[in-house]
Amino acid sequence: MENWSFKIARLWGIDIRVHITFLALLAWIWYSSRFQWLSVLITCVVFLTVILHEYGHALTARRFGIPTRDITVWMCGGVATLQGSAKTPKQEILMALAGPAVNLVLAGITFAASLLLGLLFVNHLPGGQVSGSIYVFYLMAFCKWFIISNLILMSFNLIPAFPMDGGRVLRGCLNLKYDVLKATSIAVKTGRVCAVIMALAGIYYDSMLIFIAFFVWMSGAREQKMIEEIERMRRIERGEATPADLLQAQFGNVGALLANMLQLDGNGAGHDAGEKPFPFPKGDMSDDGFIEAEFVAKPSVKEDDGEIRIVSVKDAE
Ligand SMILES: [Zn+2]
Repeated sequence: MENWSFKIARLWGIDIRVHITFLALLAWIWYSSRFQWLSVLITCVVFLTVILHEYGHALTARRFGIPTRDITVWMCGGVATLQGSAKTPKQEILMALAGPAVNLVLAGITFAASLLLGLLFVNHLPGGQVSGSIYVFYLMAFCKWFIISNLILMSFNLIPAFPMDGGRVLRGCLNLKYDVLKATSIAVKTGRVCAVIMALAGIYYDSMLIFIAFFVWMSGAREQKMIEEIERMRRIERGEATPADLLQAQFGNVGALLANMLQLDGNGAGHDAGEKPFPFPKGDMSDDGFIEAEFVAKPSVKEDDGEIRIVSVKDAE
């Protein structure tokens, strides 16, 4: 057991793992349902569909040279852990669309199969009545349910909000016109509108929607932060920014930076920084030899063997 999940199979070179929360869900369904076997079977079929959806993402990513470590099913669905990210907006759009496309194809194949079943095994009698084996009707009912659940899965995943695929499709499309930061920012804002609508719908229909809305809102914020971080690193790689700019962007001023480095509180109290006093953005520590009042400065930074050092501190003004 690793990260509370274990491997159950390996398909197309990717491990399929089951998280312990999925087993908890099955156990809960078993104990709370009247038709135990049927409910557990239906849940497993849904999760099998989810795994195939994730394979859509993973195998498309592979075509763009991005490997997938594993696909894990947990209580709320599936996650394909990609070891890299799309290099172009077009790649991101295709990778995101591949999952819902799997659901559409599954629904299409099942629709064709049920038509064939009806054609071959159901007799149409005059007066609109039908006759045939009860098992054929069971099978056709299953097909109908499978088609609807695939269409629901597809539509839900296409909601334009992170962490759903629709959020990625929207960001990818915006990224064709705008830079990735602006594209993400617009996509996150759109996602927040969706989250608010979901939460309002949750008040009237199903309180589960409020929970999902909260999750969507938080995911948007996380996506925004992650993209900002990646973009800063890429700017340094391209030589458009220095590590000093990165520190400046992250900490704003040298006082906050030093406080962070030395793990001090904002006033510099309780530190063991040694002999030298450090400037801090606020506080009155003149009797200790600390620099008083507001102090905004720009750190001059040197990169040495991958380590970032502050070589001098000068006033920004
Ligand atoms: Zn997906």
